[in-house]
Amino acid sequence: MKYSSQLIEKAVESFSSLPGIGKKTALRLALHLLNKDPDWVQSFSDSFTRLRNELKECSECHNLGDDEICAICADKRRDNGLLCIVETIRDLMAIEETGHFQGVYHVVGGLISPIDGIGPDQLHIDDLARRIEEKGIREIVLAISPNIEGETTMFYIAKRLQHLPVRISTISRGISFGGELEYADEVTLGRSIMARIPYMQNEFSAAGQGS
Ligand code: ZN
Repeated sequence: MKYSSQLIEKAVESFSSLPGIGKKTALRLALHLLNKDPDWVQSFSDSFTRLRNELKECSECHNLGDDEICAICADKRRDNGLLCIVETIRDLMAIEETGHFQGVYHVVGGLISPIDGIGPDQLHIDDLARRIEEKGIREIVLAISPNIEGETTMFYIAKRLQHLPVRISTISRGISFGGELEYADEVTLGRSIMARIPYMQNEFSAAGQGS
């Protein structure tokens, strides 16, 4: 045994199983907990248990929330006619952070990638068309990273929605080609979501057209 206590060993093992945490940091964190009040430690660990057990996927937009409908979808002050389509919840969070978007979201949950065996059926695209029809959405903003999979996904979505009376735009090109949305700086991302451009007029609109 590396440590004099199995309890310490177990705690170190738990902490170091998290991304970016090595054994040394794990030991430091474990020992740090010993300086804390037992109630504090209890509520600390409870917060993760509750997070894991009680967090719900929003039935409307696939964001995460405490209720069936997430706080963004439930917020009456937001513009329900403007829908931003993102790949992941982290992208949604990045756009929310900018404070420049007042519409609602739809998290597709991935990108179309035939090489990885990911087709449109595995993503939340089917319910998107239904949502647009039922909720009277007038504009969708494709806020998806412009890499190959992203372009394919945007093209597919635009095609699926072409029969609907909805305007389709993309975030403007502040985000570098192939750059991940999540890592774009807040000011650039905020600016690009405000200065969006019609999808079919942008220079990438030809992606996938040959297939
Ligand atoms: Zn929602």
